[in-house]
Amino acid sequence: MSVATERTEKTFASLNPATGEVVAEHPVHDGDDVAAAIDRAREASRWWAELGWRERRVRLLNVKGSLARNLNRMAEVIHQETGKPVADAQLETIMAISHLDWAARNAQKVLGPRSVYPGMMAINQKCTLEYQPLGVVGVIGPWNYPIFTPIGSIAYALAAGNAVVFKPSEFTPGVGTYLAELVAGVVPEHPVLQVVTGYGATGAALASSPHIGKLAFTGSAPTARKVMAACAENLTPIVAECGGKDACIVDADADLDAAADAALWGAMSNAGQTCIGVERIYVVDRAYDAFLGKLTDKARELRPGFDREAAYGPITMPGQLDVIERHIKDAIDKGGKAVVGGPESVRKPYVEPVVLTDVPDDSAAVREETFGPTITVHRVASLDEAVEKANRTGYGLAGTIFSGNKSRAMEAARAMRSGMTSINAFAAFAQVAALPFGGVGESGFGRIHGADGLREFARPKAITRQRFATMNLTSFARSEKEMARVLGLINMLHGKRYKR
Ligand code: NAD
Repeated sequence: MSVATERTEKTFASLNPATGEVVAEHPVHDGDDVAAAIDRAREASRWWAELGWRERRVRLLNVKGSLARNLNRMAEVIHQETGKPVADAQLETIMAISHLDWAARNAQKVLGPRSVYPGMMAINQKCTLEYQPLGVVGVIGPWNYPIFTPIGSIAYALAAGNAVVFKPSEFTPGVGTYLAELVAGVVPEHPVLQVVTGYGATGAALASSPHIGKLAFTGSAPTARKVMAACAENLTPIVAECGGKDACIVDADADLDAAADAALWGAMSNAGQTCIGVERIYVVDRAYDAFLGKLTDKARELRPGFDREAAYGPITMPGQLDVIERHIKDAIDKGGKAVVGGPESVRKPYVEPVVLTDVPDDSAAVREETFGPTITVHRVASLDEAVEKANRTGYGLAGTIFSGNKSRAMEAARAMRSGMTSINAFAAFAQVAALPFGGVGESGFGRIHGADGLREFARPKAITRQRFATMNLTSFARSEKEMARVLGLINMLHGKRYKR
């Protein structure tokens, strides 16, 4: 059984945000349902952990295969529930497939037992380090990338030997439910991935359980705070993947066509509802006018809709439309110019592209996460000023730099206060399963993806085995002679002066 038993009578509807039609009804799982799912997961986790690296690898590669064969069906559910174009939903599923593949293939290498050199002082000890599963991992997901985002926790947690209870967003319960069905098809013996559906209260019940080893949360920073407070009761550790206010920096010698193309995609694709989306662009003076011309020309060509030709879909969460409208109006009230679109671009449930310039730094559009197809473009004197302004936010998820100079771009990338930076492309790091993904500050902490993402869902276990007896210094029987020998050895090993 892959999905929590539907003890509860209550249901809710997932809606197509473009048409308002009901996509499907799902149960509202309450605290008892969640507790029952966790109980089943505890048993499943013991079985799954004992299955061993090789068998789990084969099973997860087969889950990947099943998802690949059912890619179009999964993409259709994503399309219906989020409203995003089918091709974007397919792309998102492809990225999820690559993470399942990487996690399955690399789990043993990253987490399996290895010998560690004990050092001269403990040379008689055989040292083993291994990473053991945590048991049950709770995953709470958002709606904007309803498979790509949670798979970054689910695939890595499963590969590390844990069972998972997943609470998808109330806007995208069908995606989570279908994913659990695919996993159950490959792993029918025990429910290693269960889905509990419902609103915030269902997520809260998962977070406050004393029987989960970790809670992987992806969503907004205010909800992350509530989740963290609930987890604090049981000292349950959490991974928090929160929002962002990412910047794209365009250097004077950048390839401006490539920069405009990437910045536009970064800002407007998925109707701007992307945690690592470009929300601010800082352009070095010499390139500003030419860049803005290219960006606005391209932006005017984009049209939202639910049809095959639409560049992007509707705003998935109706409440966000008011936030987007407020940000546009506030920017203009404070002296900003709308060079493409304006407040009238908000045509519910769609928002047409909006490009804003001369927006003061204290406006909501520059400071808060907008999560819409809007962008502010700023003129700066230098790359240094661009980085300094890009860093003027409590968020720190990712960023983009376009520059013709490799070393200058690397220096700026390092100085950017973010978990990830992509040079001369938008969000290239998200396609590389081997690289860690996560933020700093208000964007959260902890990492999914890559070796760090695997280790996030395991606990290090250190084991020493004494192979032969040497001086025993931790005994009441130690002699002064032994102590003197050790002091001599320490002086020889560590007492020297080091030259530069
Ligand atoms: P949200 O915070 O409103 O909800 C996220 C999830 O938390 C949902 O499943 C929701 O039901 C659940 N939830 C709500 N209240 C809860 C509570 N008290 N206890 C436990 N769970 C609760 O976020 P959202 O609107 O679904 O997603 C958009 C946000 O997610 C944006 O800020 C976006 O930037 C961020 N995001 C971040 C990443 C990342 O990887 N850093 C990826 C995608 C989205």
